[in-house]
Amino acid sequence: MLYHPDKNPGDKAAEEKFKEIAEAYNVLGDEEKRKKYDLLGQRPEFDSTTADDTFRDFMDSWSTLRGTFTKNVFREGRGDVWTVKNKDIVLVLFVELKDVYFGNTLKVTYFKDVRCVDCAGTGGKRVTCPSCKGAGKAVSRRGFMTYESMCNLCRGRGTTLKETCKNCNGNGYKSIKRQQNVKIPVGCPENSQIRLQGEGDSIHPGKDGDLYFRIRTKPATTFVRNGIDLISRVKISFIEAILGVNLKIAHISGKKETIIVPPGTQPGETIKMKNLGMPRRNSLVRRNGYGSLHVKVEVDIPKKITKEQREILENLKKVYNHNRP
Ligand SMILES: [Zn+2]
Ligand SMILES: [Zn+2]
Repeated sequence: MLYHPDKNPGDKAAEEKFKEIAEAYNVLGDEEKRKKYDLLGQRPEFDSTTADDTFRDFMDSWSTLRGTFTKNVFREGRGDVWTVKNKDIVLVLFVELKDVYFGNTLKVTYFKDVRCVDCAGTGGKRVTCPSCKGAGKAVSRRGFMTYESMCNLCRGRGTTLKETCKNCNGNGYKSIKRQQNVKIPVGCPENSQIRLQGEGDSIHPGKDGDLYFRIRTKPATTFVRNGIDLISRVKISFIEAILGVNLKIAHISGKKETIIVPPGTQPGETIKMKNLGMPRRNSLVRRNGYGSLHVKVEVDIPKKITKEQREILENLKKVYNHNRP
């Protein structure tokens, strides 16, 4: 029912892609290493000391902490500080068409990541990072230029784990199951987004992420939506097509509606029924607040008939003049 983009293998692929790019960058950026790479096909060590701005952009957008690293530009003078924003969760919610028709409220279960209560998000007992000595950043020199990047060992935190928290395995957060009542807006268009503020991930201090539900309608055979209109089908006999017929059909509203098939209806012809389509957004009361229902008429030609039926048709054939063009 639900797809969590973060639980998808896509993330893993993105991570792999990142490593590839970073490696390629490293290789191209270093004459020595490129030779080594070319000759031995060996993958050079991931080395953050060769970082420059392009590389840092990658670091900014990629993290193992399940969040987005943003460089805090407002703290100039005290040096760059990397802060981590809590992630929004985007879920695709597959609903029945009638849920959109009525604007039903659905109970939805999902998972979100929250800060571990045992270690308060630290992941366990932490010590000053031996690589950056707590600064959170690495400084490298190439020629006359000095480059700064986030410390690769502690990911800008300035500390590394000494004792791993048993509750969260050192992650600092845990995935928990949550339930939300989601009110589907009446007549909302396909792919509408519902935002529940602050119901996303809650790992890092500061603002919690938001939760988004993207509404998609499950494919159905009885009613197909086309904007505010609905499309359905009805099957009649060839005799009913000739003589016309009044039929009761089941509507998406649960009510029975009468459809008038006029005499001489052609196969594939569509009968338009006003106000029996989808409700316009936020309208379930006003009569004109609905689209139309288009019923496609299918004519059933029997493959087998009885002897008696055949006689009648033979007789009809004698009196029926069919003008061929
Ligand atoms: Zn913990
Ligand atoms: Zn460090």
